[in-house]
Amino acid sequence: MSKKAVILLSGGLDSATVLAIARRDGFECCALSFDYGQRHRCELEAAGKVAASLGAAKHNIVKIDLRLWGGSALTDDNLKVPDAADSHGIPITYVPARNLIFLSFATACAEAWGARDIFIGVNSVDYSGYPDCRPAFIEAFKECARLGTRAVDENWHYNINAPLQNLSKAEIIRRGIELGVDYSLTTSCYNPDAAGRSCGRCASCMLRHAGFVEAGVPDPTTYSK
Ligand code: ZN
Repeated sequence: MSKKAVILLSGGLDSATVLAIARRDGFECCALSFDYGQRHRCELEAAGKVAASLGAAKHNIVKIDLRLWGGSALTDDNLKVPDAADSHGIPITYVPARNLIFLSFATACAEAWGARDIFIGVNSVDYSGYPDCRPAFIEAFKECARLGTRAVDENWHYNINAPLQNLSKAEIIRRGIELGVDYSLTTSCYNPDAAGRSCGRCASCMLRHAGFVEAGVPDPTTYSK
């Protein structure tokens, strides 16, 4: 019998690599994506292609509207996505409690589907300083998921897998290439144009491009200019 896992899949580089890692580890995977009102909605199309190319058994897209309260440049058209710059503190591209929300949905999906493993592509090395990407949060969520589900009465717990936590962007790319990830299917830009082409200027574009350069892999991203 195959073991099941729910994979948070954004359509970006990191979560595509996570799906490939889970598949290599023998999991039957349910990819979970969110149509949450993000500015970079083209990532959902990318997520669908990535899920199919890496053999996810299912791909669920959850519709929620985080534009109701905004609070991030990714969910509020009045806030501009900044060019990558030396910003201090938590960047304006942080979406309030996004991974807390996503992991809650992933836990619900896992409980319903009979999966005990959840995979998320958070990272502590080349990351943007988001609180919901840090190890302390992931560790605490594991206990939260146990206490809030049937796991507590049945005496087991969810594994919250964060296999990229300690890898640099270049290491993530090398790992993904080894596992056959086609990064041309992925998109990372916070501010793509109407055709889905990346801006090449936001923090996410800069980090991604630097990762390909450091990994010695040609950058397959389509840029708007
Ligand atoms: Zn960009």
